[in-house]
Amino acid sequence: MSIPPPFPDFPDLARSLMLLKNKLDQQVKDFEKDAQEIRQYYSPRAKFERWKVTEDGKLWKEKQHKRQEGCCDECKIRIEIKGSHIDHIQPLSKFPELAIDVKNLRLLCPDCNIRKSNKYLP
Ligand SMILES: [Zn+2]
Repeated sequence: MSIPPPFPDFPDLARSLMLLKNKLDQQVKDFEKDAQEIRQYYSPRAKFERWKVTEDGKLWKEKQHKRQEGCCDECKIRIEIKGSHIDHIQPLSKFPELAIDVKNLRLLCPDCNIRKSNKYLP
């Protein structure tokens, strides 16, 4: 006569728990991916990139181009609105709260903007 194991369902239970654990691990991974996308969407850079293509952003650029009399704010060469770069006077990396603060924005020629971004690289 054989004695039945004390927990006959244990192997099934263990298997079910492992499956559940795998499923939950996958869900955590999916949530982390979603959270990363949400953080990315609300990042100061993304916020700025969205703003500059809005009507407000385009209008600001036109007005700013006139205010700067069609010149780069740094080297003063003539720039077209289309090819000009929007510069964050206080760098976005250090002042994310000023991402779309128009008092912190100006137009630069591509050369000056690239020169300036290199300067602020850590
Ligand atoms: Zn310039």
